Amino acid sequence: MKKKPQRSCVCCRTTRDKGDLLRVVSLADGSIVYDPTGKIPGRGSYLCRNEECIKTELKKAGRLSKGLRRAISDEEAKALAQEMLAAAAKAEQ
Ligand SMILES: [Zn+2]
Repeated sequence: MKKKPQRSCVCCRTTRDKGDLLRVVSLADGSIVYDPTGKIPGRGSYLCRNEECIKTELKKAGRLSKGLRRAISDEEAKALAQEMLAAAAKAEQ
């Protein structure tokens, strides 16, 4: 049986299947985007698909920016939070 890749949420540290987490990736050009495919090349960080982790983490973005080795501006964090909350809401339907 093939083992699914596991990643842990930067917020609550829960380990889950990679596909169950939301991926944020730091691109070569320095921008930070939500990666719905999980396939964008770059340094990635993962968050649970739930409001609590998304909101907690993107309010401060400390651990996220540490994982991505780059500071995240308030605007970026806000835009990311919006996209990820929308994705989390979709997954729950
Ligand atoms: Zn979490």
